[in-house]
Amino acid sequence: MSTIAIVGGGPAGLMAAEVLSQPGLEVHLYDAMPSVGRKFLLAGIGGLNLTHAEPFNDFVLRYGSRQPEIESLLNHFTPQMVRDWARDLGIETFVGSSRRVFPLEMKAAPLLRAWLRRLRSAGVTFHTRHRWCGWEANQALKFSTPDGEILVHADAVILALGGGSWAKLGSDGAWLPLLAEQSVVIAPLQPANCGFQVLWSEYFRGRFAALPLKSVILSFTDATGKSYQKLGELMITVTGIEGSLIYALSAPLRDTINACGSVTVYLDLVPDKNLPRLVKELAKPRGSKSMANHLRSRIGIEGAKAGLLREYLSATEFANPELLAAAIKTMPMKLIATRPIDEAISTAGGVCFESLDAQLMLKTMSGVFCAGEMLDWEAPTGGYLLTAALASGRAAGLGALAWLQTGKNFH
Ligand SMILES: Cc1cc2nc3c(=O)[nH]c(=O)nc-3n(C[C@H](O)[C@H](O)[C@H](O)COP(=O)(O)OP(=O)(O)OC[C@H]3O[C@@H](n4cnc5c(N)ncnc54)[C@H](O)[C@@H]3O)c2cc1C
Repeated sequence: MSTIAIVGGGPAGLMAAEVLSQPGLEVHLYDAMPSVGRKFLLAGIGGLNLTHAEPFNDFVLRYGSRQPEIESLLNHFTPQMVRDWARDLGIETFVGSSRRVFPLEMKAAPLLRAWLRRLRSAGVTFHTRHRWCGWEANQALKFSTPDGEILVHADAVILALGGGSWAKLGSDGAWLPLLAEQSVVIAPLQPANCGFQVLWSEYFRGRFAALPLKSVILSFTDATGKSYQKLGELMITVTGIEGSLIYALSAPLRDTINACGSVTVYLDLVPDKNLPRLVKELAKPRGSKSMANHLRSRIGIEGAKAGLLREYLSATEFANPELLAAAIKTMPMKLIATRPIDEAISTAGGVCFESLDAQLMLKTMSGVFCAGEMLDWEAPTGGYLLTAALASGRAAGLGALAWLQTGKNFH
């Protein structure tokens, strides 16, 4: 009987366990944490966005430069198959207004419970509090456990160790040097779907942190001269900005900061009114009304939008309808850094596909497969992260199965 060691009990590792749990195989899943699936459970707190119901041709575009590699995985585990798989576990899904797909109950816990039950009854053995620390000379996996260090010999190994954010949930990126030592090519981990730092004044931070900026258009030009423009909603934070609009553009924003040291974005605070209309409205006499009331009643600017104008404009600009209107349409905001990687929803970088064969086996280590967020790809929020983690876990599991069946293992 062949023995398989899966290291990492997130969605990718669990999916690998699912395809490998068949007669004739002994599957052991190891995780450093006291329980598996912790980030998956966190993902369920704000509503588990399992996948996305847009046409497949659009779906695969979300993986940017890694589209070819991820698409070939998704061809065998499509967004519809994710929904079917969840249904098979007793979890019905629905398509939300933005075509994002959620479980009916929105949460991850019922799905994870059903999944673990199925894996256990299929014979998968779970070893929690087992931190993988690398290899011994004879290819044995070294784990640190509450009972001390142990060595594990396996016929095939799946590494599904996650990225490098939310380290307290288990994925801390500590695997990087362990794989680098084995001549695996790894792109540095970077925050993805992350917030950005802005130098707010004490006053602005104190008054407006945690308030949203709704229906704004954000535009900027990256280091190569490519322009981006997107309508959406963002959130003011104590340290800067975050939210769906920012996450959607976080990759080019991050790359521009990497290339130029900072990036200036421009906000259109009132996209539904053009500049001449704004000038006309703002130039109307305000009588005894305060400027704040004038802005609110004439053009609907209040709250954090009004705060931003106060933050960035001089008294002279504020008093001049043309200058004020121009600032409302193109409010410059300088982003000086990404927020730390640990706060990010996901991470870019990881094991490069060039280091893997088509079955996700490391070219430098026969019988060792990699899956999930630890691979070098990124995608926006919208269910794209979980779908690719699941699809790659499945591909790595099937790859290991095929590799064992063709007898190419070293035992
Ligand atoms: C707040 C938040 C919300 C999110 N919401 C969504 C969403 O709605 N939709 C979506 O698609 N994605 C979402 N994501 C992203 C998604 O959760 C991840 O992309 C996904 O969990 C990655 O799966 P994975 O299996 O590759 O890694 P992980 O889920 O990170 O699992 C990796 C596992 O490996 C273990 N591990 C790591 N190192 C070791 C070691 N040395 N030894 C042993 N075990 C180890 C960890 O303990 C962990 O259990 C969200 C993420 C966050 C932080």
